[in-house]
Amino acid sequence: MNRITIALSKGRIFSETLPLLQAAGIRPLEDPESSRRLIIGTSRPDVSIIIVRASDVPTYVRYGAADLGVAGKDVLHEQGAEGVYQPLDLAIARCRMMVAVPADFDYASAVRQGARLRVATKYLKTAREHFAAKGVHVDLIKLYGSMELAPLVGLADAIVDLVSTGSTLRANNLIAVEDIMPVSARLIVNQAALKLKGAAIQPLIDAFAGAVQAEEAHAAD
Ligand code: ADP
Ligand code: MG
Repeated sequence: MNRITIALSKGRIFSETLPLLQAAGIRPLEDPESSRRLIIGTSRPDVSIIIVRASDVPTYVRYGAADLGVAGKDVLHEQGAEGVYQPLDLAIARCRMMVAVPADFDYASAVRQGARLRVATKYLKTAREHFAAKGVHVDLIKLYGSMELAPLVGLADAIVDLVSTGSTLRANNLIAVEDIMPVSARLIVNQAALKLKGAAIQPLIDAFAGAVQAEEAHAAD
């Protein structure tokens, strides 16, 4: 029997992947939010789930420590996705990568005047590409979280971050001024694993694809 390992991160990605797993007949035996265990068994004896940091999912899959994983496009774009297949947009964990500034900062005129902007983000590559394409000069400041704080305390003029409802921006008196890209979570698959264990992995991909299509048909109703 081929053993299959799926890498997931806690939180949104885990909870929104649950229905897709269910469609493949896979039910985790523990809840990673309450369990400290990092390897979780499932209702299928051949399938286990490993719990890793969202930005570590591609690494586990690239090296084959996990056969499959679910990773945000934000992470895949930032890190590159060499060595992994991306067969499916799962249409979950949807949000947008955006530039945001304090509500009283005139971003458009700063850009027009060719000002050099300080931009705080955990997405250095994505931000560098975005501002280079617009010809805007930036000093990028790497942060690991809570980017929204940076402009409030004078660390940066702007941030590049993920926005879904906009409520965190509003709560901190920030406004989105540019849309960089839509983001959703993708299924990623180790290339060698797909060749060697395709008989076990392909049906999972197909079940996920079916569940995504059913969800989209339902959403269109
Ligand atoms: P971290 O491990 O850095 O704390 P998060 O838990 O914040 O990561 O986010 C994990 C993944 O969930 C991100 O890579 C992204 O794809 C997605 N995500 C993050 N924020 C949002 C959001 N506001 N709405 C929808 N999806 C999001
Ligand atoms: Mg987080």
